[in-house]
Amino acid sequence: MKTLEMVHEYDPRPLPCDKDSLKESIRDALIHIVGKDPLTATPRDWLHAVSFAVRERIIERRMYTKRLFDQEQVKRVYYLSMEYLIGRMLVNSLMNLGFYEACCEALEEMGVSLHEIIDMESDAALGNGGLGRLAACILDSMASQCLPGYGYGIRYEFGMFHQGIENGEQVEHPDNWLRYGNPWEFPRPEKIFPVHFYGYVVEHRERGQPRYHWEDGEEVIAMAYDYPTPGFGNKNANNLRLWAAKATRDFDLDYFNEGDYIRAVREKIESETISMVLYPNDATAIGRELRLKQEYFFVSASIQDILHRHAELGYPIESLPDKVAIQLNDTHPAIAIAELMRLLVDSHQLPWQKAWELTRGVFSYTNHTLMPEALETWPVTLMERVLPRHMQIIYDINFHFLNEVRHNFPGDNDIVRRLSIIDENHGRQVRMAHLAVVGSHMVNGVAALHTELLKKHLFNDFYRLWPDRFVNITNGITPRLWLNQANPALADLITRHIGNNWTMDLEQLRRLEPLVDNRDFRREFQQVKRRNKERLAELVKRQMDITISPDALFDIQIKRIHEYKRQLLNVLHVITFYNRIREGRAEEQVSRVTLFAGKAAPSYTRAKQIIRLINDVADVVNHDPMNPKQQVVFLPNYDVSTAAVIIPAADLSEQISTAGTEASGTGNMKLALNGAMTIGTLDGANIEIREAVGEENIFIFGMNAEEVERLKREGYRPRDFYESNDELRRALDMIRDGFFSPQEPGRYRDLVNNLLTEDQYMVLADYADYVRAHEAVDALYRDPEAWMRKAMLNTARMGYFSIDRTVMQYAQEVWGISPEGWV
Ligand SMILES: *Cc1c(COP(=O)(O)O)cnc(C)c1O
Repeated sequence: MKTLEMVHEYDPRPLPCDKDSLKESIRDALIHIVGKDPLTATPRDWLHAVSFAVRERIIERRMYTKRLFDQEQVKRVYYLSMEYLIGRMLVNSLMNLGFYEACCEALEEMGVSLHEIIDMESDAALGNGGLGRLAACILDSMASQCLPGYGYGIRYEFGMFHQGIENGEQVEHPDNWLRYGNPWEFPRPEKIFPVHFYGYVVEHRERGQPRYHWEDGEEVIAMAYDYPTPGFGNKNANNLRLWAAKATRDFDLDYFNEGDYIRAVREKIESETISMVLYPNDATAIGRELRLKQEYFFVSASIQDILHRHAELGYPIESLPDKVAIQLNDTHPAIAIAELMRLLVDSHQLPWQKAWELTRGVFSYTNHTLMPEALETWPVTLMERVLPRHMQIIYDINFHFLNEVRHNFPGDNDIVRRLSIIDENHGRQVRMAHLAVVGSHMVNGVAALHTELLKKHLFNDFYRLWPDRFVNITNGITPRLWLNQANPALADLITRHIGNNWTMDLEQLRRLEPLVDNRDFRREFQQVKRRNKERLAELVKRQMDITISPDALFDIQIKRIHEYKRQLLNVLHVITFYNRIREGRAEEQVSRVTLFAGKAAPSYTRAKQIIRLINDVADVVNHDPMNPKQQVVFLPNYDVSTAAVIIPAADLSEQISTAGTEASGTGNMKLALNGAMTIGTLDGANIEIREAVGEENIFIFGMNAEEVERLKREGYRPRDFYESNDELRRALDMIRDGFFSPQEPGRYRDLVNNLLTEDQYMVLADYADYVRAHEAVDALYRDPEAWMRKAMLNTARMGYFSIDRTVMQYAQEVWGISPEGWV
């Protein structure tokens, strides 16, 4: 590790970061970059000016860091991800750089309030949900732990849609996040790589060897935009490089010369659509040609860039695995395996075996789902047309691989069919997960249960073939964002008692455990929660004009709307609670606010219907004068910024997916870290959270993964549960018969019929135990001291779920890299 003094060898005059220098930089940026008179500048002008002042200081760190990495000849890791759900940059940058306070004061002296301008920044919402947020947390951790880690992705013009709610229904609005310009990015018009599609492959012989040329395709240019990412509490900055599609030389000269100017412009626009929009889909594969082009587009540019850097640093191509590790975030970038093979074999002219050895040494793959509908496959015919050379290479990889399989399982043709990268049963499809496993030296699941299920089911044959290739690396979250930034009051309380080392060593939180017996600390902890609940109540008032009481238990389910996550189970409990009050059992119930937030994929009709049902139920429940104890809120447009307000205010965290469906979850970690109690199934990381916090400090209910499997195998009959449980029957009848939709009584008939006949995610089977668990929640909440003790123990025992532990595991077990940088 290099010290700060040595930075001066690299640059004699790094910008100072005290209040007065910041003031000068902000004023300079306002006048000279934003071009505004301080006397008439708008809040957004000031936001941009501050952002420019901050990024000047980040980019310096980026330069020192790069020089150091080059000089020390470090091995670099490249994280390839279609999604980065980053959120806002300003506060995060200020806090990581350590001059949040100085900046507040600098602005104050100029008559501007930092708090009033931060909400003007748009979220960088270049992701759908957990997978994209994980990528963002990993970038923060790599920079903060001085690991040479780089992100590669796509600079979507339009990120995740904005969700509005109109008459109870989701409406989607485009997310034009770049509308006001983006001070955080550095366009690199000289960092461009050509990317090809379509065309055909020509074979010829060179010194007796077959050689392949991919010819006559369409060419699109990938142009780099750099987002330097500063570490927390060090002098490092890594880089996130996002690619944007640009037309070749802007206009096709042929058309131009032929006088077809309009056609030339049209083709320019068509090629630039590749990076136009993020597919708003979660946990479902998108079998569209444009999506395949997006995947290949950013992968090809990234691999070319990586090889270019490797060569520029003077390393021989044979040393690739010594200097480069590439992590595939799900199968979306798995075509990188074929792309690297193509470049090594066709351009570098390496023999196949050598190229394969290098490729496998470089790649590793993180699986994010077991659900069949989410597993990416591409029709061979489509792949042959869009990426003809890659299809050939995939066949060759498969040929060598299946020979190995036959050698290991002689005579077992069935296993050959099951393992093949090509699925011959569903009209010839390329199985991207198989390509990813075959081309990687390590494959990981994202929670203990998930990895076990991978080995037992999805990748069982692979596991028998290569048991050492599979590891578990349980997900984590960055404490810098999800505690320090999102919950300053709690962060401050913790720091006053145990110092501030927890921001980089979250296991330190364990030192809070003895304070559970300290009455003053408990009172302060409770006051912090109370203030955060007031802050959320203000947001709900401002956005929805609904008044919620911070005295009530805040029962929170925030995540993508999906059948497997079972928002419906929560709704059934809400209705049951309502019915109990209507039956005059109000004194049994603790006052509750049940808050939902989350987006549904625009094409996922059932999920959108669930949103509508939540709003219909809210309408009835909230307006019943006989029901003073219950409120239901659907807060629109769930994103990183709203998550940061909701999470610190939560009393109860709903993590209620059908066991065996949620790979890990990270929302569960954010909420428990902020002192919410979890009500959850034995699914994903909930299992490890239970181990960490202790089973007496979590509300577990329902079937475990084995019981789910068994019930499915033996024949699940949801109607039996309906018929044998009066409260369940009553709740479902009310939904089905239009109690919550009197204007359209049949609105939910199909939804309920589906639950009664199919109920794929076994909502009805888990209902009774879920209601019982909620009764235990109520009982505990009536004893505020006992509740607070348990909530505090949740915070104190969540250290394991720091993303820093996750990333160190990747660094040691998968990437083979170690810390290097400026402290
Ligand atoms: C953490 C996070 C998620 C993932 O939540 P899960 O409960 O793990 O599904 C999704 N969206 C946003 C904005 C998040 O911050």
